[in-house]
Amino acid sequence: MNYFQETIGPYPFKQLDIVLDGLGMEYPGIVTAHKIYDSGPVDPVVLKSMVVHEIAHQWFYGMISNDPYNDAWLDEGFVGFATGLFHFSKSKQSVPYESVYKQIEHLELPVNLPLDLYESDMNSYVYGKSPVMLWRLFEKNGGIKEAEKFLKNYYQFYKYKEINSKEFVRFTKYYFDLEDDSLFQDWLLIE
Ligand SMILES: [Zn+2]
Repeated sequence: MNYFQETIGPYPFKQLDIVLDGLGMEYPGIVTAHKIYDSGPVDPVVLKSMVVHEIAHQWFYGMISNDPYNDAWLDEGFVGFATGLFHFSKSKQSVPYESVYKQIEHLELPVNLPLDLYESDMNSYVYGKSPVMLWRLFEKNGGIKEAEKFLKNYYQFYKYKEINSKEFVRFTKYYFDLEDDSLFQDWLLIE
């Protein structure tokens, strides 16, 4: 909570309830974490990162909204990315960019297709490729410190609003003064 509030912006409620039961799921002001689909309870290390993931949703989904069918990557990708930022800025480890990129190199589709256009690998795109592509974007544009600054501005601009892929690209191009769409070409379908 402290990291996200300092890095991204204020949490809008007086209270956050964390219920350790049920599926990992986010709701405004309350999150649940215990298992993933039909698995039994996840182990404590996974549970911790699941709680961080669901808390990050208070910002990406709770404060900044997106269509969960056509742009599911926008909250899940930013949540995955913010969870990683929390981990790396706390542990002071360096980001293993090359091995992270390897994990998604077989995923050739964009991350922002409507969910019915993915086969069984939907989760690999929404939860896997999209945060990795955000890591790549920031690796090329200032690294962790710059990413944290970006999130703060992104939050200031889009809190209590709904964002979509096109608007994300528009904002990011303006923010980094990019001349073309080349940084988005192999992961976002922009009409
Ligand atoms: Zn999530």
